[in-house]
Amino acid sequence: MEQVNRVSIQFSSLPANVAFARVAAGSFASQLDFTINDLEEIKVAVSEAVTNAIVHGYGTDAGSIIEVAAEITGDVITITVADRGKGIDDLENALQPAFSTDPERMGLGFSFMQSFSDSFDIESAPGKGTRVTMTRRCKKGVTPRQGH
Ligand code: ATP
Ligand code: MG
Repeated sequence: MEQVNRVSIQFSSLPANVAFARVAAGSFASQLDFTINDLEEIKVAVSEAVTNAIVHGYGTDAGSIIEVAAEITGDVITITVADRGKGIDDLENALQPAFSTDPERMGLGFSFMQSFSDSFDIESAPGKGTRVTMTRRCKKGVTPRQGH
């Protein structure tokens, strides 16, 4: 059986933690032989999901917890970003490019997540929260890097 490598982090729903989550995810992903550009895209996707959890999921409920979990199996990384915030009423609408419930925003976060992932899945329930799951395969194959 193929070895699975799993990590997860939990952190407070604060904008200051977006950079932390993005670096942590990028650092874990760099165990696969992704290009710098691939890693940048993975980090953008994670930033967008975490920003959504902070801004839309919890809003002013800033003490709440966001979980980012990742696993590498073979040449595929799977990343989930989960909140227990307000959830999404109309998922179909939310996933439309340029749809936002906030007139100040562009409504492009889900589009970035989808275009920077090989597969994208979202589960959300009003009042319960939202979980985004993204996978990305390392096209160069598996040459895991050693830690330093
Ligand atoms: P942008 O990402 O361009 O700043 P945005 O966040 O509004 O704008 P998306 O990230 O595509 O755009 O999200 C679309 C809509 O889905 C949001 O406006 C919001 O209503 C809803 N949404 C997204 N993530 C969550 C979440 N974690 N919890 C609750 N609602 C969410
Ligand atoms: Mg967004």
